[in-house]
Amino acid sequence: MLDRSAAARDDNKPAKGADVVEAIRELSSRELLPLVQKIDTEAYYPEAVMRAYGRAGGYACHLPGETPPDLVTAINAMAAAGEYCLSTSFCVWCQDALGWYIFASDNERLKVTLGQRVATGDALGGTALSNPMKSFFGIEGMRLRGKRVDGGYVVRGLLPFVSNLGDDHYFGAVFEVEEGGKRNVMAVVPCASEGLTLADNTKFVALDGTRTFAVQMRDVFIPDGLILADPCDDYIKRIRAGFVLLQAGMAFGLIRDCINLMQQVKGPLGHVNKYLDVQPEHVAEQLQAMESAVAKLAATPFETDPGYWRAVIEARLVAGEASVTAAHAAMLHCGARGYVATGAAQRRLREAYFVAIVTPATKQLKKMLADMAH
Ligand SMILES: Cc1cc2nc3c(=O)[nH]c(=O)nc-3n(C[C@H](O)[C@H](O)[C@H](O)COP(=O)(O)OP(=O)(O)OC[C@H]3O[C@@H](n4cnc5c(N)ncnc54)[C@H](O)[C@@H]3O)c2cc1C
Repeated sequence: MLDRSAAARDDNKPAKGADVVEAIRELSSRELLPLVQKIDTEAYYPEAVMRAYGRAGGYACHLPGETPPDLVTAINAMAAAGEYCLSTSFCVWCQDALGWYIFASDNERLKVTLGQRVATGDALGGTALSNPMKSFFGIEGMRLRGKRVDGGYVVRGLLPFVSNLGDDHYFGAVFEVEEGGKRNVMAVVPCASEGLTLADNTKFVALDGTRTFAVQMRDVFIPDGLILADPCDDYIKRIRAGFVLLQAGMAFGLIRDCINLMQQVKGPLGHVNKYLDVQPEHVAEQLQAMESAVAKLAATPFETDPGYWRAVIEARLVAGEASVTAAHAAMLHCGARGYVATGAAQRRLREAYFVAIVTPATKQLKKMLADMAH
């Protein structure tokens, strides 16, 4: 069971949702803001900030345990980081997803060992679920294959992009096993495993401070103690809504900052910016509608009704499209001052596309909705 007090602040009492969000916002303005340019241009990974978020309770609220999972606080905490930097906000999502997988599983031992460390930011990591999420919806084949051996599985394959990693980090992954029929198994993989290599050979246009690696697994042994679900099809159905809804935090933070950027130039440029089609008030209205739709869905992340899953997909699609729209509008409002190399508007525009292309990407969401209609 999750000990939330371990993820509390100085007084050692479990932190309340609003306190957690406030602590993350305060940490972000004090410690993340000065690093934003370095993260964007030098691929700097803000590890100390990531660990501080964990100590402030940022990775613990949404974890299923004795109390119902509070996804809204996790989303708002992620958004507080995203108001400054989407790269870091995405790392927060990666960390949240890893904890979500562990605490939504039946692996009780893992919850009190690694799970507890992930909840407090003592152990960091991410998720390699883009490939299986695409595979389950008929977009591509499974990239990891496992073979049963004594005490666990041996896994091989290459994943092109997995973020929030490092030599002592962990990630959730799914591999296909062929044993009298195919099945999928989900497990936590330690980056330190023998046979696992991380290759840092891609430069991205944004989100480069996310420690995103190509992960090569050459006969990596995954012990039974790290298995989350075997087979994992029902378990994936259980975790998928939370996985998708949590991503809203990235969108909300980015959109809030885009609104701020537009408001900031109202003084000097309002007399001409008022002719632009998208105004900050429109974006703020849409954001409010998205926040309440997501809050409603996030209250019941384990709901099994197909209509619920459809609504989650629709909300995720809106989040990606609204991020790009808001950042595009901020760019037009800021003009040349947003177009300089250190301008926030051009960075936010580059970042915004990530919300629309990270799995489930806009095209996948549209495919999923089209498939549901048949
Ligand atoms: C900065 C960044 C961080 C990411 N972090 C993660 C993560 O933590 N976990 C995770 O599971 N996924 C991660 N991804 C992958 C992401 O979620 C999407 O799967 C990816 O952006 C492609 O999605 P798509 O649906 O648009 O596929 P498409 O772009 O249509 O691509 C189809 C396939 O080609 C592969 N592909 C595309 N370009 C390349 C390339 N240059 N080299 C090798 N293969 C390629 C893709 O992985 C995909 O399997 C990350 C991507 C980026 C850009």
